[in-house]
Amino acid sequence: MTAEPRPVAVLGGTFDPVHTGHIALVTAVRDQLEAHEAWLVPARTPSLRTEPVAPAQLRLAMLETAVRAVPGVRVIDIELRRPGISYTIDTVEALAVARRDVLPWWIVGADAARHIREWHRSEELLGLIHLVVVQRAGTPRFDEAEARSLQLPPSRTRVLDITPPAVSASEVRARVAAGRSVTGLVPAAVAHIIAASGLYRSAPAVR
Ligand code: ATP
Repeated sequence: MTAEPRPVAVLGGTFDPVHTGHIALVTAVRDQLEAHEAWLVPARTPSLRTEPVAPAQLRLAMLETAVRAVPGVRVIDIELRRPGISYTIDTVEALAVARRDVLPWWIVGADAARHIREWHRSEELLGLIHLVVVQRAGTPRFDEAEARSLQLPPSRTRVLDITPPAVSASEVRARVAAGRSVTGLVPAAVAHIIAASGLYRSAPAVR
């Protein structure tokens, strides 16, 4: 007899850089879903936005240092190891083969959820995945009616009233470029990597 797959909360993103909003978000969703783990999945090359400012290896290093002291949160580098554009559908299909033991619940912030129909092979993707939408500070509240209007699969979609701290990676980059402090916006060890590497000092802050 095969055991039921265990739920895992999964957050994909560019993590340029990972910030306290990401960490608060995945731990809150993991707890609410009673999932045994949360995974952060950095994209190598995102499909719907410009190339990340930080190289993949530094984004990965920042993620790994950020989760070191956070039990039950892991970084999965599957998209960094795959050449080309990082499409979520490819990751979903690869995990369905390689990790039959887990049931991934893909997390999106309300801002990202509103664009999910633009994602690569979105029809197939939405035919497969379990989706969790969380609120994003500064954007209108995402509710069940909006989920229906986007035709998110009702039996595999959960809209949660979790609003993580109002942090964005763009704000972090902009503050570093302006020579301002990012204390509290990123874990201390991430701030250390940013300072030591000179990342974002001259980066274009807005995409
Ligand atoms: P950027 O400012 O560069 O666009 P970001 O802060 O949105 O970056 P990403 O790595 O692009 O971070 O986000 C990955 C996912 O995490 C997306 O689904 C996004 O909606 C969600 N997310 C990121 N930060 C928050 C936050 N503070 N609250 C809710 N959702 C968030």
